[in-house]
Amino acid sequence: SKAAIDNSNIIETNNDACQCKLFAIERGYWKDPYLKLLAHSTQHERRTPEISLGYYVRVYGLRSLIEKFIKLTNGQCQIINLGCGFDTTIFYLLDNENLKFKHFVDVDFDELTEVKSMRIQRVPFLQKKFSQANQSLKIPCGFHSSLYTILPADLRDITQLDSQLKRLFEHGILDLTLPTIFISECVLVYMSNEHSSNLLRYLSQTFSQCCLFVNFEQINMNDRFGQIMIENLKQRSCHLVGMDSCQDKTSQCQRYLDANFTSAQCVTLNEYYRKYLNSNEKQRIEHIDGGLDEKELLEQLFEHYCFSWAYRDEKNLGLNRIAF
Ligand code: SAM
Repeated sequence: SKAAIDNSNIIETNNDACQCKLFAIERGYWKDPYLKLLAHSTQHERRTPEISLGYYVRVYGLRSLIEKFIKLTNGQCQIINLGCGFDTTIFYLLDNENLKFKHFVDVDFDELTEVKSMRIQRVPFLQKKFSQANQSLKIPCGFHSSLYTILPADLRDITQLDSQLKRLFEHGILDLTLPTIFISECVLVYMSNEHSSNLLRYLSQTFSQCCLFVNFEQINMNDRFGQIMIENLKQRSCHLVGMDSCQDKTSQCQRYLDANFTSAQCVTLNEYYRKYLNSNEKQRIEHIDGGLDEKELLEQLFEHYCFSWAYRDEKNLGLNRIAF
């Protein structure tokens, strides 16, 4: 069917992200012993230093917002990773004594969650991270333990997502009264603006007591460089369908406000890199691949990605304080 074909192209974007991350990890940009076990991949093409730096900043920036959220809530929180792919944040958190949380949910299409679940179950190094769950759970999920659930759902189908989440509420796995952080790392761009807006509206309404939505994706795609990026993806049958209305920082934030979030912020990767990234770290990563000849290419690339985040905080827990 047409829908199945469309999904396989979208799912394929996860391979791209994994290949780039694996290359950067192998070069020493950051440490992650888990991704290669999940992605089942040993060979990856060489990437330019700019691309590896971009992935470093993407992972590092998102994790820093997650860590701030965990600290603010003293670990009394839940984390929901939308369009998770083979992302390894769950393992990063489990390895970190200071980063406690109540439950972590990875969500993606069932074709992907099935593979991710199977690999975790079959690789002892991954499997042993999880203790057996005490619930005799009758939910159609790929994997479930006391701290972690892998949940299949199409994020464009709110009815489906809602019934999947409801099962987790009913079994006491998720709790609507707990602060919840949603992560979407290069996911919304693969959905129409209408689908993204519906998703955001549904989440802000369902988790209205206290939720933070954190997003990383392309931005400023109207210039020549942006058009080349879009064209490159299109050639691999991958369409950034969500790019038409979220073109700049203002529209990124407006999308959240329209979906009933209270307040929103957006920073480009350039701004993040200049203002917030630790200068020792910057020194280190810029020299991994022998130093950058000129910064122009990096700045051009970094102008086309952003972090944005928004909150709704009826409990007044202080989510307005979360920023880089
Ligand atoms: N977040 C991961 C990361 O950054 O490493 C994966 C990013 S990959 C570019 C996009 C992911 O979003 C894919 O795994 C894809 O299957 C998922 N995705 C896109 N649209 C989705 C939808 N409508 N429902 C569920 N998952 C979706």
